[in-house]
Amino acid sequence: MNNEEMIESRKELAEILRKRQQNLTRSEILKATQPMAKKGFTKAERIKAYSEELEALSDDEIIMSYVTCSRCGEKFCSLEEVDEILKDGCKDFDEFMRKVLERSPTHH
Ligand SMILES: [Zn+2]
Repeated sequence: MNNEEMIESRKELAEILRKRQQNLTRSEILKATQPMAKKGFTKAERIKAYSEELEALSDDEIIMSYVTCSRCGEKFCSLEEVDEILKDGCKDFDEFMRKVLERSPTHH
């Protein structure tokens, strides 16, 4: 196994997650900000708010947003467990999420 490929820290993981969020398409961002439309925000305002919110999140906050169920708000794992998963070895986002979900096998 090539160690160079491994995600070594929460900070590094957070950067990977941020990049993913920044690469969402316009329609994905609009879907994510749908509740704002009901409050009268324009599409441009929603897209702006989305990127501002993303920049304001700390590394740990963005990590926790990925390990929290968007349907029920349950956390799949703690930050300590994120550290364990990284220690165990992850080379990319998909592997990280697979290991997170393995810890919560009965989740809907
Ligand atoms: Zn859930």
